Amino acid sequence: MASNTHSCPQGDSLRVFKGTFIHSTDTDPMKTLDLSILGVNGLGKIVFIETVDKEEELAQKWHFRQEDIRELHPRKEFFIPGLVDTHIHAPQYPNMGSCLDLPLLDWLTKYTFPVEAKFSNLKFAEETYTKVVKRTLSNGTTTACYFATIHTDSTLKLCDVINELGQRAFVGKVCMDLNAVFPVYKELLCESVSETGRFVTELTGRKYPLVKPIVTPRFGLSCSSELLQQLGSFANSNNLHIQSHVSESLEEIEAIKKIFPNCKNYSDVYDKHSLLTDKTVMAHGVYLSDEELELFQRKGVAISHCPNSNTSLCSGLFDARNALNHKVKVGLGTDVSGGYSPSVLNAMRCAIDVTKILSLKSSDYEKLSFQEVFRLATLGGSQALGLDKVTGNFEVGKDFDAVLVKTNVPDSPFEVFPSDSPQDIFEKFLYLGDDRNMVEVYVAGKKVKPFAGS
Ligand SMILES: [Zn+2]
Repeated sequence: MASNTHSCPQGDSLRVFKGTFIHSTDTDPMKTLDLSILGVNGLGKIVFIETVDKEEELAQKWHFRQEDIRELHPRKEFFIPGLVDTHIHAPQYPNMGSCLDLPLLDWLTKYTFPVEAKFSNLKFAEETYTKVVKRTLSNGTTTACYFATIHTDSTLKLCDVINELGQRAFVGKVCMDLNAVFPVYKELLCESVSETGRFVTELTGRKYPLVKPIVTPRFGLSCSSELLQQLGSFANSNNLHIQSHVSESLEEIEAIKKIFPNCKNYSDVYDKHSLLTDKTVMAHGVYLSDEELELFQRKGVAISHCPNSNTSLCSGLFDARNALNHKVKVGLGTDVSGGYSPSVLNAMRCAIDVTKILSLKSSDYEKLSFQEVFRLATLGGSQALGLDKVTGNFEVGKDFDAVLVKTNVPDSPFEVFPSDSPQDIFEKFLYLGDDRNMVEVYVAGKKVKPFAGS
C-alpha cells in the first residue's frame, strides 16, 4: 500500500483513488462518476470525491502527490459501493444449495431446525461461521444482517469471526420459546429473554466497532406472546435494532391467524408487541396488504426483499414496486439457506426476475429497472438497516465500503467488447459477474479482501 499512502499534516493516512465510481443516490438510482478522484482518510472515511480537473486543488489541500494516487484502468476497473445483505442466516450455511424441495414450514422442521441445533458445538460454530463470513465478504457483502441460533456463546463466536475478518454487521441471537415440531431446538421464555440480555451486554463489552446486536424473535409462530412482549420492551428500552420475518408464506399466515386471533393481521402481531419501530427490518413481507405497508411506512419499518428464497421455497412473489410506492424502506436479502446463493448480485438478478414476472400479470405494471435494483442492494440496504449516514454510497463523510470490480480477470465469467458502453459493462457485471471480478473489498477503508495471508 506504500505507493498510494501518504502522511498528511493531521497525521492521517490518506489514500487516493482515481477512475470510475458507480453508485446510487436518493435522486438517481445509478450514477456513473467517470474521471473522478476519491480520498479516504485514516479513519476510513471518504473526505472528497470530485472530478479529476480538481486534482491539483485537492492535492494542495490534502497534501498528496501524483505518485500517491491509485489509478484504475478505464473500462477494465471500477468501484461500486459495498453490497448490503439485509437478511441472512449464518448457521444455515451448511445447507446452502440443498434441501429446497419443501415449503417453508416443512423445510424448517426437516432441514433447518436440525442444522441450527448443531451450533451448540462451539468448534463447529467457529469453523462454519468463518466459512460463511469469508464467503459473503468474497462476494462483496460489506454489511450483513445475520440471524444466528438460540445459542448465546456460539452467536458471540460469530461476532468474533465477523470482527476478525472486518465485515460490518448486525448479529442476532435467535429467540424462540415455541417449537412443537422439533422440541429440542427451543428455549424457555425466561431463558430467551435473559440470554438476549447477556448477548447484548457481552457483545457491547467487546467494543467491536462494526458489529452490533439486533433483537431477533424468530417469527410469530415460534414465539409466545409473552416473549414477543418482553423482547419488544427490551429492544425499545435499550434503543436496539430488531429483525424478524413477516408474511412469508400463505400457510404461515393461516397459522398466525389461529394463534393470534385478536390481531387483525400478521403485522399487527408485531405492532401489538412493540416490535415495529424505525429500527426494525422484517424479512419477506410477500403478502403484506396496503394497510400493513402504510403501517410500515408510518413506523419506519423496513422490508428485506429475499427473492431467491421466496422462489426457492415457493413462498410467493414480493411486489417491491408497491412497497416503494408506499415509501417503505426496502433492501435485498440472500436469506441463506432458503435462498441458495450467498451473493447479493444473485439477489439482484432474482429481484429483476420477480419484477419481470409480476409485469407479465399486468400490462401497466411498472417494473423495477436494474438500476433501481442496484440501489436496493446498496443504498436501499443501508437505509433498511438505519446505516445510510455511514454507508451505502460514495458521499463525503461516509465510510469507504467498496468493491473494486475488474472486468478482465483471467477467468472472468463475461466478455467486454470494444463496442460496449460503460453502462453495458456495468450491466454485464451485474448479470454475469461474480466474486472473481470482485478483486478487492473494503470496509470502513480497510481492505478485507484479499484475505490476510492469502
Ligand atoms: Zn430468514
